[in-house]
Amino acid sequence: MSPGQSRTPYDGTPVVAPVVAPVVAIVGGGQLARMLAEPAAAMGVPLRLLAEAPGVSAAQVIPDHVVGDYTDLATLRDLVTGCRVVTFDHEHVPTDHLHALEDLGVAVRPGPDALVHAQDKVVMRGALAGLGAPVPRFRVVTDTDEVVDFGLPCVLKTGRGGYDGKGVWFVGTPDECAPAFEAAAATGVAILAEERVDFRRELSALVARSPSGQAAAYPVVESVQRDGICHEVVAPAPGLPDHLATRAQELALRIARELDVTGILAVELFETVDGRILVNELAMRPHNTGHWTQDGAVTSQFENHLRAVLDLPLGSPVARAPWTVMVNILGGPADVGGRLYDGYPHALARDPGLRVHLYGKEPRPGRKVGHVNAYGDDLQECRERARHAAAWFAGELGDESE
Ligand code: ADP
Repeated sequence: MSPGQSRTPYDGTPVVAPVVAPVVAIVGGGQLARMLAEPAAAMGVPLRLLAEAPGVSAAQVIPDHVVGDYTDLATLRDLVTGCRVVTFDHEHVPTDHLHALEDLGVAVRPGPDALVHAQDKVVMRGALAGLGAPVPRFRVVTDTDEVVDFGLPCVLKTGRGGYDGKGVWFVGTPDECAPAFEAAAATGVAILAEERVDFRRELSALVARSPSGQAAAYPVVESVQRDGICHEVVAPAPGLPDHLATRAQELALRIARELDVTGILAVELFETVDGRILVNELAMRPHNTGHWTQDGAVTSQFENHLRAVLDLPLGSPVARAPWTVMVNILGGPADVGGRLYDGYPHALARDPGLRVHLYGKEPRPGRKVGHVNAYGDDLQECRERARHAAAWFAGELGDESE
């Protein structure tokens, strides 16, 4: 010890500083919850997770987790004890349970009355039509005769429980309607008939909104879907006329405000061949069409979701580069699977600017196991880099591409 310094004897006070930030509970252990953990760590916000099984994607990175059933109210009550806020990786928690959690004094964000619009397509279509938002022509149908009356060809959708194109039937003849009504009979959910929209492409308008009403709109993106699954996202949507981009952002902000959404709202849109935009779907959580923001925007959708549910000021949604391309990594065919960690040496050496996000999931066929982001000044180059890397991780390219 140098002269002038003195040592105070240790008095038994804990050396670990108490955690003063509020704890945020998350229901659902998928990749969205996993990706919330990164900004939470950076912001010093503790997370507590309800995972559906041991070792799922988010449980690997959130040590404070319990494994349980999100349809069980007692499990949800235990989860939120000591938490200020509860938010979601998915939209499937029963509405009554969410009201019960609010009665306990925990902030449910987004709240049950907003979330129901992302849980139930019939409720969502009705509410949007009530707001005067542009939506495809639709009607609830109970049998094939009503579908014929509505007009074939059309699209049938299960009101609840659909995802990634499951629960969506493209029907051209009366015979083709049977599977939708069989599914409805088995689950008791309503079936919605919708006009089949002749669209140029699919767009997504993502906004974050806080309980005190601050909102931030991200650039409108193009999303490329195949078989109902998002494959690629380009930010911003190439060639989208300014007036349509502004209209889409204003529409998303208005929907967020009118439905009192807190956190991220993704508004999935069709850009029709005759230059209109129609709302297809709403999601009230970080969304696949916003994964590009992790590397391509000043504030990622995950950080803004956390800030929003904590009612903190939102971060800038502005893009960092002229273009960002996100490509999902899907599990390859059963005999190929895909390369996960083993894919790094080639992918990272080939492209030092590439950003890779893997979810810690087994690469089963068609399953989303990660994504890559490439950003830069040249759209074609970003596309090539992102597509190459995603195909490499998916096991679609041979070793000769090294
Ligand atoms: P999910 O809940 O599975 O995401 P969506 O309602 O988004 O279901 O439909 C999945 C995909 O089906 C959409 O991304 C779009 O490509 C196509 N689709 C959905 N509705 C229509 C429609 N009315 N007209 C044309 N295509 C549609």
